[in-house]
Amino acid sequence: MTKAAPLSDFSRLCIHTITTKGWELEEAVDRYAEAGVSGVTVWRQWLEGRNPSESGDRIRAAGLEVTSLCRGGFYPALEEKSRKEAIEDNKRAIEDAAALGAPLVVLVCGAVPGQSLTESRKQITDGIAATLPLAESLAVKLAIEPLHPMYADDRSAINTLASANDACDALNHPLVGIAFDVYHLWWDPDLEEQTKRAAQAERIFAYHVCDWMTPTGDLLNDRGLMGEGCIDLRGIRAIVEENGFRGMIEVEVFSDRWWDRPPGELLEAIKEAYLQHT
Ligand code: ZN
Repeated sequence: MTKAAPLSDFSRLCIHTITTKGWELEEAVDRYAEAGVSGVTVWRQWLEGRNPSESGDRIRAAGLEVTSLCRGGFYPALEEKSRKEAIEDNKRAIEDAAALGAPLVVLVCGAVPGQSLTESRKQITDGIAATLPLAESLAVKLAIEPLHPMYADDRSAINTLASANDACDALNHPLVGIAFDVYHLWWDPDLEEQTKRAAQAERIFAYHVCDWMTPTGDLLNDRGLMGEGCIDLRGIRAIVEENGFRGMIEVEVFSDRWWDRPPGELLEAIKEAYLQHT
């Protein structure tokens, strides 16, 4: 497999606020800016008690780009009332993204244990469709993030790049695309073909990196920093870049192991891992 050339600067480095969980938004922004990081993906918890518009100004004043707002989704539910509430919550996420100046909301689409994945997928596309008029009026893009199949029970019924492409085809809207996360997709034998399909439709909206630990101690919070695990990061970056992707490379690491250490130490490790392994 072809490998992408090493990255030589931080002009495409974006960090998710959840990666440095110990820092409040302001501290994260200041520290990222000092470190030369170029973008930030803001998780919604970091907007709690804050004015999103002021937060966006604060981020841009520090010289960072707001790459996206993470996350909306979780559309499927057994009760119609809950599905409607999910749609309302997604509308608030879209409004917050617009106020923050984030061009994109990342969607972790949801699933319900015991409900068929086919039904959940239908509820996902129906839920996204219900928010599209608002997304259009505010010019906010929506990125379906396919999740690794280990999360098919309760986090997402969209588990491959192919099924994310299918959902985008069904919605057929220029504001609906895909958040490509190596953690969820690295194992997929159809990765190259499905990346091509996504790229041809101009729907790769975001690119998330971390690494897969062997063994994985926790299904959610044991991601590795790039280079700590087995994902062919340069090989996968070559695939997305050969297909035209030139956007931010977003470091999204949920790790109890790293969260136990000072965030400043993690930030230094991220910079090194980004240049050495991404
Ligand atoms: Zn992700």
